[in-house]
Amino acid sequence: MSTPIGGAGVIARENPARTTEIVGVVAETPAAAVSEIVREADAEQRKWATRELPERLAVLSRAAVAIEDAVEELATLLARESGKVIGDCRGEIGFAVRYLRWVAEHAPAAYADRVVDDELGRIVEQRRPYGVVAAITPWNAPVILTVLKLAPALAAGNAVVVKPSPLAPLTVSRVIALFEAPVRVVHGSADTGAALVGHELVRKVAFTGGSPGGRAVAALAGDRLTPSVLELGGNDPAVFLDDAPFDDDTVDRLVMASFATSGQVCMAAKRLYVPASRLDSFVEAYLAAAGRVLVTGDPLADGVTMGPVISAAAQRAAITLRGGPALPALSGGGTVHDLGRFDGDPETGYFVRPALVAGPDPASPLVAAEQFAPIVPVLGYTSEEQVLAAANAGELGLGASVWSADEERAFAFARRFEAGFTFVNTHNRTGMSLRAPFGGVKRSGWGREYAGEGLAEYVQTCVIHAPAAFRPGAGPVSGGPSAYPAG
Ligand code: NAD
Repeated sequence: MSTPIGGAGVIARENPARTTEIVGVVAETPAAAVSEIVREADAEQRKWATRELPERLAVLSRAAVAIEDAVEELATLLARESGKVIGDCRGEIGFAVRYLRWVAEHAPAAYADRVVDDELGRIVEQRRPYGVVAAITPWNAPVILTVLKLAPALAAGNAVVVKPSPLAPLTVSRVIALFEAPVRVVHGSADTGAALVGHELVRKVAFTGGSPGGRAVAALAGDRLTPSVLELGGNDPAVFLDDAPFDDDTVDRLVMASFATSGQVCMAAKRLYVPASRLDSFVEAYLAAAGRVLVTGDPLADGVTMGPVISAAAQRAAITLRGGPALPALSGGGTVHDLGRFDGDPETGYFVRPALVAGPDPASPLVAAEQFAPIVPVLGYTSEEQVLAAANAGELGLGASVWSADEERAFAFARRFEAGFTFVNTHNRTGMSLRAPFGGVKRSGWGREYAGEGLAEYVQTCVIHAPAAFRPGAGPVSGGPSAYPAG
């Protein structure tokens, strides 16, 4: 957890891999200052929106170059404040750069006026910015999750006030400073986020985080009738059909789909389902794969693929969830298998030994809730109907995956998931695409990021219409002065 130094007002971020090391400090933003910052952003937005779209997009392109030039420094800082391994940090920042360029390429078509001018009249659909957008982001992928909001919002002519997580405020603040645009940062916890969301001049809220925060933000935004995008938690099932191979590449990919960022990813594979008759051979293949690809240790060291969890509280929760012989009831039973090589020291960093739990109680918290930890359950199933019912159980519906030797069969199965995004023969970030909208169904949120839908979140359609029937000199209208029009 971030440690207040000298009382309220300062957030000091420790390195989760070496908790005595303070990586950096930011000043907390008092509620009165949040209000003033939103007012300033509102004034800046009015000027920003008058600049031509190509000028705004040039600002995004320059930010992409600046971020790319600083990638090593930024990735190292991100690894030190978040505990994510350095290769993943480089990957996240690189993806953010690609997304900025994707927006610069696709915004002109998405935000152009659409005009109809014919014998029925003239209709101009404009895509107008909202004004000030509040962007509230979590710690687990702070750069990409911030840029997913910043890039389309700024391109559309909005100003943005970002509230990063106090658990990873440093890298994202550096990234934001590289934009020559109306973007401001406020630092703090839920209270700071609430002061931002509840501000009268905030016209749109973009929130990524867990369900409790999402619920509070949605209520506050709803009270002000401020529209919102909510990207919330998931409890993604990964279903292996009976023809799915357990070859090395496949199972290596599956292991990292669960354990990248120590299992703390919204769209990690969080529940594994395999045919009961193949459960033993699956566990054997999985342990072998973990032996090849999963090395827990210092996020900055070569060859390490998993770092610590984010905080002392997350470490305690993960150890409780892991259960094992000493705590079988807490984990819902099952057989706990240690995974991979473990070079982390749980005394000096927030390290947790990763585990696969075979055959736990389906009603246990490890299966039924989002664990957000490096502990993954695998369950056997006996029919496709049974596994679909299990996969679709619960209130969350973010991602899912189906694994099969037959892509057509996989697609047919995938149509029956209650999930916003289904991966085929992969899961988690290896299956993402800039071209595919991402977001949840059920209680995993609303709205979408990425692709055309991600661009559309930051504009509102405003129409100008001149019916031809009322053009000067057109004469009287058939049906009388209050009749419905022809088109
Ligand atoms: P969190 O909800 O604790 O915090 C997210 C952000 O919201 C932080 O900036 C936090 O300070 C702020 N916040 C929390 N409560 C608030 C409130 N009441 N009012 C205003 N702001 C508030 O989440 P976290 O622990 O940082 O991230 C983990 C969660 O985020 C997981 O559940 C994960 O699945 C989810 N997540 C979802 C996505 C997605 O795209 N769907 C992506 C990443 C993470």
